[in-house]
Amino acid sequence: MKVDWLIVGAGFTGATLAERIANELDQKVLVVEGRNHIGGNAYDCYDEQGVLIHKYGSHTFHTNSKLVWDYLSRFTQWRPYFHEVRAYVDGIKIPLPFNLNALSALFSPQYAQKLESLLIRQYGYGAKIPILKLRESAHEELGFLAEFIYQKVFHRYTIKQWDLKPEELDPSVSARVPVYVSRDNRFFQDAYQGIPLHGFTAMFHRMLDHSNIKVLLNTDYQEIADEFRYKRMIYTGPIDSFFGYKHGRLPYRSLRFHFETHQKAWYQEVGTVNYPNEYDFTRILEQKHLTGQVVPHTTISFVYPQPYSPGENEPYYPIPRKENSQRYSLYKQEAEQIRDQVLFAGRLADYQYYNMDQAVARALTLFKQIVSE
Ligand code: FAD
Ligand code: UDP
Repeated sequence: MKVDWLIVGAGFTGATLAERIANELDQKVLVVEGRNHIGGNAYDCYDEQGVLIHKYGSHTFHTNSKLVWDYLSRFTQWRPYFHEVRAYVDGIKIPLPFNLNALSALFSPQYAQKLESLLIRQYGYGAKIPILKLRESAHEELGFLAEFIYQKVFHRYTIKQWDLKPEELDPSVSARVPVYVSRDNRFFQDAYQGIPLHGFTAMFHRMLDHSNIKVLLNTDYQEIADEFRYKRMIYTGPIDSFFGYKHGRLPYRSLRFHFETHQKAWYQEVGTVNYPNEYDFTRILEQKHLTGQVVPHTTISFVYPQPYSPGENEPYYPIPRKENSQRYSLYKQEAEQIRDQVLFAGRLADYQYYNMDQAVARALTLFKQIVSE
């Protein structure tokens, strides 16, 4: 078989590039996917009890990019959905990001009011303050609040999730969940938010439904790279594995999901409840909140962070730290030298903590470069 492009990986990055190349350039694409399904980590499916689950952890789509939203909207309608997260702190479920409602839930009305006034005076209503920044506050009471939030919400959760303290990671990691001077309990404030109406996998099927695209599942690209002739490759897997780990391993973090079905309509009040301080798991997910599926029972999943071992579990997260970016840049230099034959993109190949919209934006930008070459 002869194709123009071999694309490794059928996640957001691979599917977007396959779709663009097939539709816009009218070129033939073979997508090779190691798993037995398309969709990458955003894959959803029905479990044995008929509940629509997100196999690799809850995925909530959110973006401020009209370009990305309009692009994906060609392949799906959307179920409007605003994600809410609670964190279990001192026996109380408080909203995350930690906001003014969390203050009211945890402190006496007078003290909550005092802290609220201080936050508004110092940062302004609507401000989002990364916890590591708030910790730098010289103000005595804001310093107390920062330490309280750091200890009760961030410290142990981050150790569970990464086996590192918040300050041992790039500050952008804990800044994903800033302290929010607001009464808005939504986890994201992006302009566009939703869940594909018929699920993520259905959306991926539509993206890849083109006579120029063939998809080969259950196949590592190395098994077939010699059997197929192609002009160029796009690789969306782990970049260190592509180069045979010649500059050493890039660390990734993995997860284990434990699913349980309960014979009741709902298990918890929102889609995600985090447990920063208790248990070995970090959070409990209930995807019915996201999907809007109407069934009398519900499936939840417990998320247990794990070290990543190639071949044994999945590389879910790059670990954003200076020494890892330095090692990644060695691989990036290698990648640049073979750019004519192979292009690298995606959360694993770019070694970047991309959200779904960022993966799509990255793929659309790469496509533009391909066209302009
Ligand atoms: P992936 O989805 O990882 O796809 C890469 C694909 O390549 C995989 O299917 C893999 O099997 C395949 N592959 C790798 N190597 C090979 C090989 N050698 N041969 C063949 N195939 C190979 N983003 C959000 O915006 N909102 C969320 O709520 C959200 N929740 C998340 C929750 C979790 C637990 C995780 C891990 C991520 C979450 N994300 C979320 C991020 C989102 O999953 C990523 O941005 C997105 O999946 C990136 O797409 P990708 O195509 O780059 O990578
Ligand atoms: N975090 C935390 N406690 C929480 C939620 C998040 O310490 O209750 C920190 C933790 O380091 C986590 C990071 O903030 O890895 C980003 O959280 P997010 O919910 O964005 O993680 P993801 O959904 O990507 O796993």
